[in-house]
Amino acid sequence: WESAPVRTPEDPDALAKAASRIPHGRESATFVMLARNSDVWGALDSIRQVEDRFNYAYHYDWLFLNEEPFNDEFKSHVSALCSGKVQFGLVPDEQWGKDMPSWIDRDKAINAINAMGQKPIPYGGSLPYRKMCRYQSGFFFEHPLLDSYEYYWRVEPNVKFLCDIPYDPFKVMKQHNRTYGFVVTLYEYQETIPTLWQTTKDFIDKNPQYLAEPNMMEWISPNKGDSYNGCHYWSNFEIAKVGFWRSEAYRAYFKHLDQAGGFFYERWGDAPVHSLAVSLFLRPDEIHFFNSIGYRHEPFQMCPIPAVGTKCTCSTSPDDPHNNFEFHGYSCTPAWKKITHYKSGTAFSADV
Ligand code: GDP
Ligand code: MN
Repeated sequence: WESAPVRTPEDPDALAKAASRIPHGRESATFVMLARNSDVWGALDSIRQVEDRFNYAYHYDWLFLNEEPFNDEFKSHVSALCSGKVQFGLVPDEQWGKDMPSWIDRDKAINAINAMGQKPIPYGGSLPYRKMCRYQSGFFFEHPLLDSYEYYWRVEPNVKFLCDIPYDPFKVMKQHNRTYGFVVTLYEYQETIPTLWQTTKDFIDKNPQYLAEPNMMEWISPNKGDSYNGCHYWSNFEIAKVGFWRSEAYRAYFKHLDQAGGFFYERWGDAPVHSLAVSLFLRPDEIHFFNSIGYRHEPFQMCPIPAVGTKCTCSTSPDDPHNNFEFHGYSCTPAWKKITHYKSGTAFSADV
């Protein structure tokens, strides 16, 4: 497959001009942010940038999710910045839970969490983080406030958008028939997912009908399925179809993983879980690399090359590997590009 035919964003006012096109071409889409009330200031920082770099010209909706009701401070500050409709959704107890699911051996889980907490693994000793990962893996897309949208764009508090986005990424998804879009890829800490691959292979063995043909198995397992190399899309940025996660294949896959208990006994992240599903259940041409979206989530960023970035506040200089994570040895994007025969150096125009 080929990356889309495109031209460079040579028009400096492309984003402003896009504002006039809203009535004609908006997709059915919303931003989604999972956040706590205490995340309000970081949430504002992210929203302000999404709005300034893109959404002021489009006014897409925003959906905020939380397992506790949002307070008035959160709601009023956030509403003041969003240019589209704002909705606040409560996460149902059974999807987050005061405690662990009934089939989880509580003592075994607590022991595992405490043991991982002794190691230098991010959030290794945290139960709330595990609940969050399980929710982002298996439930956020089930929220009824997402029923009316075809696509969502996940945004987290405290992220940075480093360039203008002078075209509509949702429209790119639509016009090129993409299901999942990303900007950064990297390797997972293997200690957080010791049995995730075997559990996934068990699922595939029982349900081979869900495998896409072709798929991206080679990207996640260059040794033809023996092991998982940890490559994943960094899911703190995600533009995707709600319907993919609601598919029979993904729901069955999540249920299988959830029953196995690795969200608690280990520390399965939603990024590897989403990525394994995307790599196995989608064809390569259904996956989109947003190579012109400058994006930072600590401690890494994607800074587009000058030919495709617009009004960026970042550098691609090879002197500093932190400028563009893709050129860092720890990125899985070079392998992704190779497998998909990706053509670099192109960006989408405002007309897409
Ligand atoms: P990291 O990106 O892996 O370091 O994890 P984050 O702390 O950024 O959490 C990922 C997302 O889940 C962010 O959007 C957070 O705001 C959100 N989040 C994390 N923990 C909780 C929680 O306990 N409650 C709620 N409502 N949101 C959470
Ligand atoms: Mn984060």
